[in-house]
Amino acid sequence: MSGLPIVLTVKDRATLVVGGNERAVPKVRRLLSAGAAVCVVAPDAGPEIVELAHQGRLVWNKRAFVTGDVRGQTVVFGATGNAAVDRSVAEAATVAGVLANIVDGPELCDFTMPAIVDRDPVMVAISTDGTAPLLARKIRARIEAVLPENTGRLARFAAGFRSAVAATLPNPRARRELWQKVFDRSIADAVVRGDLHGARRDMLALINSPGTTQSVGHVAIVGAGPGDPDLLTLAALRLLEQADVVIHDRLVGPRILEYARRDAALIDAGKARGDHRMGGQDEVNQTIVRHAKAGHRVVRLKGGDPFIFGRGGEEVDALRAHGIEAEIVPGITAALGCAAIAGIPLTHRDHARTVTLVTGEGRDGAPEADWRAVARGGHTVAVYMGVANAGRIAEQLIKHGRDDSTPVAVIENGSLPEQRVLAGRLDGLGALMADEAVTSPALVVIGEVAAYAKTHELDDASAHDLTTLAMG
Ligand code: SAH
Repeated sequence: MSGLPIVLTVKDRATLVVGGNERAVPKVRRLLSAGAAVCVVAPDAGPEIVELAHQGRLVWNKRAFVTGDVRGQTVVFGATGNAAVDRSVAEAATVAGVLANIVDGPELCDFTMPAIVDRDPVMVAISTDGTAPLLARKIRARIEAVLPENTGRLARFAAGFRSAVAATLPNPRARRELWQKVFDRSIADAVVRGDLHGARRDMLALINSPGTTQSVGHVAIVGAGPGDPDLLTLAALRLLEQADVVIHDRLVGPRILEYARRDAALIDAGKARGDHRMGGQDEVNQTIVRHAKAGHRVVRLKGGDPFIFGRGGEEVDALRAHGIEAEIVPGITAALGCAAIAGIPLTHRDHARTVTLVTGEGRDGAPEADWRAVARGGHTVAVYMGVANAGRIAEQLIKHGRDDSTPVAVIENGSLPEQRVLAGRLDGLGALMADEAVTSPALVVIGEVAAYAKTHELDDASAHDLTTLAMG
């Protein structure tokens, strides 16, 4: 290690920034957010510093730097960008025994400023000791993604219980074990989730009988999006990285499951359920409940969004019957993901003012949606689970008055490497599905907007012309 990491208290203490342009601004912001009394010395300043001075949040001495400015400062920043001036700031600071940081002058610095992830009062600092600020920023972005916004709330929650814990558990080791339980498990999860009431209740129970409390696990029903890991939400990513048990659908592929912890148990719900068409949802529900009751952090990972043709609602009910309240994390549903991939605007001022998401699969295998209701023009219909019945759905729509030349698009394996986008007309939909041997999962978009579909195969772009059908 080539430096001493410290967190310096600057609240209400005198600090100096020499320079008023965009080099100085980040330093000024950091100092102000740390509560420092900031003085800026510069003949000219950019609008942000001028405004801050105007608001009285810092003092701006509108003149050139003089050696005496460093006297009595806690830290000094040289941020003029003028090598001679910045050097004189560093030299004056050295003489006065004040720590100095010179922007873009590592050889003149007594200290460097790490990149930070701010979850006040929690702060993660990333330092490359000035060698690779960009790398530090990249690392910061990754930490930002996994550290919930509410991490700070967790620290404050713990602070609120500190004296109570100390009073009940004089033994430091017992205290440590208690805090371990708090931060490891459901109490911390509840705080971060915003369930402060539940967290407080569990915390009091834990303080009153630290040895006996058995922590109930946490269940999150999480949407994984259409398949490309880039389309996961940050919340999904974070929960996946924390999960002890991941119970996933057949639609959720290995590229997404890679984001689970190495030691997490991966359970294929498709297998637990047997043939999903025959029911078997009970077994899945029981699997979730069993792992939650064992105190695990369970992620029930579903393709797309859990509440769009995902049976997420049934799982919520089943968990509730066991007194478990699941957290729901939305995902990008197939209609939204696939439309975006194909370049189809599901709504359009001129072509579609209504969108219907519909399943092409009836309970008994026959289409049972109200096709008359969606047969009007200017209406986009996104059909899920429609591979087998697409031809019949098209007939129904035409029978109820939809124009037989209405554009259609089929997105097979949307967002996955093997994705295909096909386009045609409503009266040719059945034939298109058969000729192209479309397999599940595929989403069918019916409506004027489907003419926007960009039909091409991602894996073999050169062999196929990139055809964009113009609006008719
Ligand atoms: N909850 C999921 C839908 C589950 S039903 C969601 O919100 O997306 C399964 C159907 O979703 C499939 O039959 C198919 O019509 C559609 N689907 C899911 N993922 C898809 C993908 N990557 N490409 C095309 N269609 C997809």
